Amino acid sequence: MKSKGLTTRTKLAHAGRSAKKSPGTVNLPVARASTVLFESLADLDDIQKRFDADEVVPTYGIANMPLRAAFEELMVEIEGGYRAVTLPSGLAANAVALLAALKTGDHVLMVDSVYGPARRVCDRTLKRYGIETTYYDPLIGAGIERLMKPNTKCVYLESPGSHTFEVQDFPAIAKVAHAHGAAVIHDNTWATGLFFKSFEHGADLVVQAATKYPGGHSDVLIGAVVANEKYWPSLRDVARDLGQNASPDDIFLALRGMRTMEVRLRTHQASGIEIATKLASHPKVKRVLHPALPSDPGHVLWKRDFTGAAGLFAIELVDTPREKVAAFVESLELFGLGFSWGGFESLVMPSNLRSIRTATPWKGGPLVRLQIGLEDPADLIADLERGLEKLG
Ligand SMILES: *Cc1c(COP(=O)(O)O)cnc(C)c1O
Repeated sequence: MKSKGLTTRTKLAHAGRSAKKSPGTVNLPVARASTVLFESLADLDDIQKRFDADEVVPTYGIANMPLRAAFEELMVEIEGGYRAVTLPSGLAANAVALLAALKTGDHVLMVDSVYGPARRVCDRTLKRYGIETTYYDPLIGAGIERLMKPNTKCVYLESPGSHTFEVQDFPAIAKVAHAHGAAVIHDNTWATGLFFKSFEHGADLVVQAATKYPGGHSDVLIGAVVANEKYWPSLRDVARDLGQNASPDDIFLALRGMRTMEVRLRTHQASGIEIATKLASHPKVKRVLHPALPSDPGHVLWKRDFTGAAGLFAIELVDTPREKVAAFVESLELFGLGFSWGGFESLVMPSNLRSIRTATPWKGGPLVRLQIGLEDPADLIADLERGLEKLG
């Protein structure tokens, strides 16, 4: 597809549909395959040569099958960058991005507000392979300079953090990282490439937990990492060497979800802001953590760097015992209690930050994260107001 000059919204409808194997349908079929058959040995040799030269040609079920290639093409159209790999989950994408940037003896600077399981990748597996991690304050900005060591080879950002929603000064941090020759990884799951262009702000590798907004229906686990040209060879090789793949059915669902992602995100955004604004004046709510609210400490940076907001934010409650928080979340009728987010339906999740953060310990009251789905926001507000009464 000739995508020059088209907006991301238009690309979502058209990119990734040009694969030669399409039988003429709008969407590519789900092809379940391990073996790809060749007409002749000359054909096989030719395809192998093109594969080795990094052409997108299918050689085996794990490599460049049309659906997977289409998903990766569309991911690059949305996020920017050079090429993408498909992973079986967002967490696998977090881990593979780190492994693509680091080797034994290196040091990584990891944002303290990062998605929890990514901490375990650092504290357990990377540590075992001789890679050291330092957690940093998400609000550190250019001050990250003082944490850089001669062996710092990666600075990892997640902006805004998906529990506490601090907006990072991305360009300032990326500038310092690059001056020291370190790779910049961004987990862009919250904003997606629709609302934040990571590569334009200095990212080298971008993670997308496509389980969330790209999937959009709480029925698929999938991830992607997009690299710029510099980091593409090491990303491609580590994903390939670890045998990373996703099922064609899951790729199909994610690709299908992405076609409507822009429309869904606009509703998630509008309803999220409406509900966050309403909750900000509720007597049981101490603070709303949502960077699109002008009162939020991250609002200025969000306005400078982002073009929109997701439907995921948090409320800090006035000090309340856990049993009361339980009574609140369990009384909600339209908000399911469960992990993950980005689907069409609303979810609620109390965060347990006291046991997680190390560089910047959480000193506030109980935090409850809300994923605002596609329901009518008036119904969601009524449900939340009824639930908040349970706090006494
Ligand atoms: C959910 C999430 C992940 C992990 O995605 P899974 O597909 O659930 O493994 C990674 N990063 C962020 C910010 C997330 O919210």
